[in-house]
Amino acid sequence: MNPIELSFEFFPPKTQEGVDKLRATATQLSTLKPKFVSVTFGAGGSTQQGTLDTVVDMMKQGLDAAPHLSCIGSSKESLRAILHAYREQGIRHLVALRGDLPSGMGEVGELRYASELVGFIRAEQGDWFDIEVAAYPEYHPQARSPKADLESFARKVQAGANSAITQYFYNADAYFRFVDDARKLGVDVPIVPGIMPITNYSQLMRFSEMCGAEVPKWIARRLESFGDDREAIRAFGLDVVTGLCERLVKEGAPGLHFYTLNGAAASKTICERMGLRGQ
Ligand code: FAD
Repeated sequence: MNPIELSFEFFPPKTQEGVDKLRATATQLSTLKPKFVSVTFGAGGSTQQGTLDTVVDMMKQGLDAAPHLSCIGSSKESLRAILHAYREQGIRHLVALRGDLPSGMGEVGELRYASELVGFIRAEQGDWFDIEVAAYPEYHPQARSPKADLESFARKVQAGANSAITQYFYNADAYFRFVDDARKLGVDVPIVPGIMPITNYSQLMRFSEMCGAEVPKWIARRLESFGDDREAIRAFGLDVVTGLCERLVKEGAPGLHFYTLNGAAASKTICERMGLRGQ
């Protein structure tokens, strides 16, 4: 029995080849008996059908699957229709986000923040959905201040979120401090660390730049020094991220949520090295 709950995040594939690959990934990861898998949603609804199709596919594979839903750029009417579609498929779990509009694209929409989306979902659908929200141990890049960001996080929970998943980070202290600070604001829901396995240096630096996650200098410099040696990057990445996960679990994280990028190998190896074999 695992001491902690595992979850895995996917994105909706765009091609049949991608669909087949994701099915194989889900089959491999299902041996770890995840609590759920989640499927991302393009802001403004760009992946709306793909998200739903992928969730339904995962449910057919016997997994509890949670679609993400972002409110930026969407009307209440369209969000209402999506919630109905999710409910019709028997979906009971979702990840509620603000999302990010591609620069220069469109209007903000009727709901500006994730807290408003959580409130809207509760008003429309009562307790039908278990709602996850995002949390930022290194703070959201647009936050006015760390304090304001923590208060925004607490507001999402007050609006009715059941639990939270963090942005990825490589500094465990940031996570533990964030959790302590959130508890002081009365947030009592589980805050599950988001884990990004390291398999590709340039991709990691690009993602981190976009989402505001810090790659510590010692990690970046080591990765850079490996150049095109993918095997060395993989081996070092597995050591670093397994060590991070071990510390998180040892010091009380309630679960681990892996950003898989639709591949099973790295997340599975980390879990196996930690001796996690499913509930
Ligand atoms: P919010 O909680 O609304 O916060 C956004 C910013 O606004 C923060 O700086 C916050 O401090 C500030 N803020 C909040 N409320 C107020 C207020 N009342 N007044 C002033 N400022 C306020 N993006 C996608 O497009 N699709 C996905 O599927 C997706 N999945 C994700 C999954 C996870 C686990 C995480 C961590 C992120 C995900 N993202 C996704 C990215 C996310 O959409 C972005 O980080 C986005 O910029 C913020 O979304 P949020 O829900 O955290 O926003």
